Amino acid sequence: MPLVNIRDMLNHAYQNGYAIGAFDLVSLDFLEAIISAAEAGSAPVILSLAESHFEYYNFELAMAASEVAARRATVPVAIHLDHGASFESAVHAINLGCNGVMVDASQEDFDGNVSVTQRIVKMAHACGVPVEGELGYVAGVEGEDAEKHPGEVVYTSVEEAQAYLQQTGVDFLAVSIGTVHGRMKGEPALDFERLQEINERLRIPLVIHGGTGLSDEQFRKLIANGVSKINYYTALADTAGARMRSNAVADTRCGYTGIVRGIQDAMREEIARCMKVWGSAGKADAVLDAAEAWRPVQHVIIYNTNGKDDNEVAAMINEGKQVLSEIPGVRRVISGTAVQSGAKYQFTWLIEFVHEKVIDSYRDNPVHVDFADRLFRPVAGDRISIDYLEI
Ligand SMILES: [Zn+2]
Repeated sequence: MPLVNIRDMLNHAYQNGYAIGAFDLVSLDFLEAIISAAEAGSAPVILSLAESHFEYYNFELAMAASEVAARRATVPVAIHLDHGASFESAVHAINLGCNGVMVDASQEDFDGNVSVTQRIVKMAHACGVPVEGELGYVAGVEGEDAEKHPGEVVYTSVEEAQAYLQQTGVDFLAVSIGTVHGRMKGEPALDFERLQEINERLRIPLVIHGGTGLSDEQFRKLIANGVSKINYYTALADTAGARMRSNAVADTRCGYTGIVRGIQDAMREEIARCMKVWGSAGKADAVLDAAEAWRPVQHVIIYNTNGKDDNEVAAMINEGKQVLSEIPGVRRVISGTAVQSGAKYQFTWLIEFVHEKVIDSYRDNPVHVDFADRLFRPVAGDRISIDYLEI
């Protein structure tokens, strides 16, 4: 099951001087191209789902496909929420299976960014999920979705970066040193001195957004100065778009499958090129050895209701299914009744946590405490409760 802890993955890249691609996907073609390129190049990879793209696909369906792809992959994979816009977005993404989240509060002032980020870090860490923050602002210039990053570029300040890390406890930091979202206009000028200083002060994996259009030499210098995760989307979207246009011109009567024919191959080629330049090609086995396998925990309760009336039991179960599933770190809540009559225990809760850490945060969560004290325990006097880690 090569779904792995993204913190271990990026720390390995940081310590070994290479960078891992975080490729935003907007369709199954992207997902399949990313995974197959990573497998062909033996590279660790990050499947990235950007909240600004949710208008193009259903997040829940894309997460289900991403998780299946990750679990059956032969290379280490992490699934990351890119540009999460709110606390609620981060909880939702974690509960759907993202094992890394990015907080994008970079349009707020420093104090505003810190307070939004702090709250998300506290919640995510209690679920075992690492967090990427952003300080400074990577604007969009042109290209697909560039308009979703309006305004001017604000460079990351070295002093503020240090204070931000201390106050928020983020695991990775996206920095703004001259890249832009979308396509670069002209020759991009990057502030490597600034990056070097940030890296010397922070000593955590740094992230570059807006990787499209940089030269191999620029990528190498970024990586030499602490960049361990590179977000990459526009070049893939442009590559796929170019192939679709040429398909449409070559056969003006072609339908959907004729138009998209070959786009996976075209994207795969570009992804493979990046993995070689960034040095992640060939690192899959080393990362699998170094990284914690990302494993869910099943919180299992079997219980009897001690002759309480059916309506009271049904009300308890209905409320439990609703409120417990919204607690951070809860993947799914299943309630069941014994198939065999006369079973020793008549009822069950099967509650899946995203990670072992959720055992503690769930137990102390006020929504859970209220449900357990007010509705569950008075009904279910006779019960057994055990947590199982997936093996
Ligand atoms: Zn970005």
